[in-house]
Amino acid sequence: MKTATKYIHAGTEPDPSTGAIMTPIYQTSTYVQEAPGVNKGFEYARSQNPTRKALEDAYAQIENGQYGLAFGSGVAATDAVIKLLSPGDEVIAANDMYGGTYRLFSKVFEKFGIVFTYVDTTNVANIKAAVSAKTKLIWIETPTNPLMNITDIEAVAAIAKANNVLLCVDNTFASPYLQNPLDLGADIVMHSATKYLGGHSDVIQGALMMNSAALREQLYFIQKSCGAVPGPMDCFLVLRGIKTLHLRMQRHCENGRIIAHWLRKHPKVGKVYWCGFEDHPNYAIARKQMRDFGGMLSFELKDDSMDAAKKVLSSTKLFALAESLGGVESLINHPASMTHASIPRDKRLANGLSDTLIRLSIGVEDADDLINDLDNALA
Ligand SMILES: *Cc1c(COP(=O)(O)O)cnc(C)c1O
Repeated sequence: MKTATKYIHAGTEPDPSTGAIMTPIYQTSTYVQEAPGVNKGFEYARSQNPTRKALEDAYAQIENGQYGLAFGSGVAATDAVIKLLSPGDEVIAANDMYGGTYRLFSKVFEKFGIVFTYVDTTNVANIKAAVSAKTKLIWIETPTNPLMNITDIEAVAAIAKANNVLLCVDNTFASPYLQNPLDLGADIVMHSATKYLGGHSDVIQGALMMNSAALREQLYFIQKSCGAVPGPMDCFLVLRGIKTLHLRMQRHCENGRIIAHWLRKHPKVGKVYWCGFEDHPNYAIARKQMRDFGGMLSFELKDDSMDAAKKVLSSTKLFALAESLGGVESLINHPASMTHASIPRDKRLANGLSDTLIRLSIGVEDADDLINDLDNALA
């Protein structure tokens, strides 16, 4: 099945009881059983819910995987993956990734004895060098938030396979429309469905996709035992979002390309971070593993004072100053004080994330209006 057809039909069968074409919101906590242990496959809604099941089937299909699992948020999905591990196990993670992932690893799981090593994963030799006998998981994000660095998923998967280590890829920024890590050898794909999958800034949710039945069993056990499950209404919203993922992504990419090139020519703008520039250091890898380059980009001003950055951040009218990304409306964000404030300043600076970096989530509005808005704010 081709992409558009898949996104529209993934996971959704007409409801067996009524024929409803849209999956109903099964707002129930429990299911009546005919006799003890005799049921229709649904016992208690933390373990199973028909709306969630439809979405989990859709999750599997859109990432070309066998299985999907839905969680109450992206970080809850990440949390479930780390709970596969035991004290003393080691994780190699990217040094440039979503601040909340770093916070979960360093502030929650370190104290349970999981050991995290952070490396620059854009050079896969760093990962190879960091693998030890205790390494159980490699965690990468590509493109990264907010610096748009690219890691070669296929090359990391080869290292993971050779060392019998799991590879999990946070595919939030690319979305399944642009990149499918399972096809490139990853064991688990993680999404903050809050972003492009939901697509309308109205839901918090996370997803895991995988091919291994054994891994699915372990992660399902964690999902029902720890209970970070999304409600049926939220599952309905993400199912609905997925139906237009391809249409939205086409426009996100189109607008992203126009604005990246426009910013680069603007006299007040310094470095622009967008993985579709041919002189981006990892352009060849981005070309190889992504179908297009998406709608996320960051930039610095030539005047690198905090005052100048703050002025731009508070002067846009269409671009709303807010955390999050991937919705239909454009957002502007200041990573150092907003999305990435949970990463210590010295670590941020060491990774190249300056205090004055501005991040844009380019929405699906008309590019001309977005450019006018940025032009006014820069003036
Ligand atoms: C937002 C985000 C997360 C966390 O997801 P939530 O749904 O906010 O819990 C993880 N990774 C990336 C890349 C994100 O942008």
